[in-house]
Amino acid sequence: MTKTPPTWVINQLITDGDLTPDRYTRHPQARRCPACGANTTAAIRSMSNEVVHCDPYPTTNEGEFLAAMAGRRTFFVSNYYGIETRFDFDILYLPADKCGQIHAEHQCGKPPLPKHPDFTPTQKKYLNTNNQPAPF
Ligand SMILES: [Zn+2]
Repeated sequence: MTKTPPTWVINQLITDGDLTPDRYTRHPQARRCPACGANTTAAIRSMSNEVVHCDPYPTTNEGEFLAAMAGRRTFFVSNYYGIETRFDFDILYLPADKCGQIHAEHQCGKPPLPKHPDFTPTQKKYLNTNNQPAPF
């Protein structure tokens, strides 16, 4: 059973930018797109207060290229670092095929990008299968 943190803790986290009133944190979580309801991986982006919704599957070099051509940003997603923006030098020196943790920004109604072949079932913890909010 999950215990709810005291209100003052929640208010302090919101003040510090580590939690939003919608309960997004800096830790990537399985969520639903607020506009279309698609499965996403969402968190507060590193070094900002922006909430980002990514596709729930990591993509390949080809997928990152297709995302860039469609004007979609790509992000490095990890439990430790959270969601970080990919820049030109990141794409050049850490290709998506080699990394396996590159997710494209979610855009409603866009066709799915190629999934990284190393995406394993253990990573499915990012997929929201029961549409439940964060457990607090
Ligand atoms: Zn959407």
